[in-house]
Amino acid sequence: TKKLAVRVNTLSPSSTLAITAKAKEMKESGIDVIGLGAGEPDYNTPANILDAAYDSMKEGKTKYTPSGGLLALKDAVIAKLKKDQHLDYTRQEIMIGIGAKHVLYTLFQVLLDPGDEVIIPTPYWVSYPEQVKLAGGVPVFVKSSPETQFKVTAEQISAAVSPKTKAIIINSPGNPTGMIYSDEELRQIAIVCKEKDIWIISDEIYEKLIYGGERHVSIAQLSEDAKERTFIINGVSKSHSMTGWRIGYIAGNREVVSAMTNLASHSTSNPTTTSQYAAIEAYNGPQDTVEVMRKDFELRLDRIYPQLKAIPGFKVIKPQGAFYLLPEVSEAAEKTGFSSVDDFASALLTEAKVAVIPGSGFGSPETIRLSYATSIDLLEEAVKRIHSYVETNW
Ligand code: PLP
Repeated sequence: TKKLAVRVNTLSPSSTLAITAKAKEMKESGIDVIGLGAGEPDYNTPANILDAAYDSMKEGKTKYTPSGGLLALKDAVIAKLKKDQHLDYTRQEIMIGIGAKHVLYTLFQVLLDPGDEVIIPTPYWVSYPEQVKLAGGVPVFVKSSPETQFKVTAEQISAAVSPKTKAIIINSPGNPTGMIYSDEELRQIAIVCKEKDIWIISDEIYEKLIYGGERHVSIAQLSEDAKERTFIINGVSKSHSMTGWRIGYIAGNREVVSAMTNLASHSTSNPTTTSQYAAIEAYNGPQDTVEVMRKDFELRLDRIYPQLKAIPGFKVIKPQGAFYLLPEVSEAAEKTGFSSVDDFASALLTEAKVAVIPGSGFGSPETIRLSYATSIDLLEEAVKRIHSYVETNW
């Protein structure tokens, strides 16, 4: 009678958050650890957004809002989707939620019946499979590798579809891969999804962090059919350095969005009111800080990528977006005496004093993930430490 519910039996804590917590603990006990685990920009939220939040509080806008979000914020999201994606949505097709993460959680809750399958390309963001399972669904993994630029093909997806398949998740730019699907690759995927009649969940949270002259296209832009079967998931966390404010949104089919809003009305009520006013300013206000942050990330990437590549036993593809590097390090792990990359990553933390995330949590056990959302000086020092650790122990 005192046992936990079956549904949480296989639930593992987020590996990203676990390592970050361990590194923080070491730091607090006086150890000089460099954390490259972070999944968030290292800038403060832009001042105009902070001001808008404070002003709204002073004006007494501190009460409940509609569960699906303020109409003014929905309108700001609609304007953003029109400006950036050239897509038209109505208020009924938008829900504001508590970060993209909780929006995805709510989506799986209203979409999946027990046994329904969701196709997830690997390497994947840690929460997708857990969220699918929590909704009674079954994650079906489709593998990608460095040889395919960490992207899956339409053929692979087609082969993975079964009568139970409900949806596929596309995350471009991807976490942890940093890769971007081209228009043509997305077009092929959209064709398969139409043929097989499945939903497309397009996680576009890293939309604004793109490098090397690449550009972001939402799969929803590619045809009327693709738009109708796609749920765009996005938010202000990464674009406006607002991870702690917890504001994300979904744009898509109105029946599904309406069910999600109903669910929110009984679970969370509205996302924090102050955060919603901040997000309105994030979308409607000046966007120059978004570009300043993007440029800075690109500078760091360009500086650190060749240094990382020079470490013996590290194979690295240059990412096109987000703020992660995903080197394949199985050779380095083996040559330094470890039977798994997990153990190698632990040694990097305890011996080299650099916190990285082992790829096993992303379904990619040959890799480690390094976030470059930290200062250039720290990044260079961290890579130097890893390099010297590998060389000394080879
Ligand atoms: N999707 C991906 C791929 C992410 O990496 C993250 C955050 O790490 C999220 C969604 C969730 O972002 P948030 O809940 O802060 O909006």
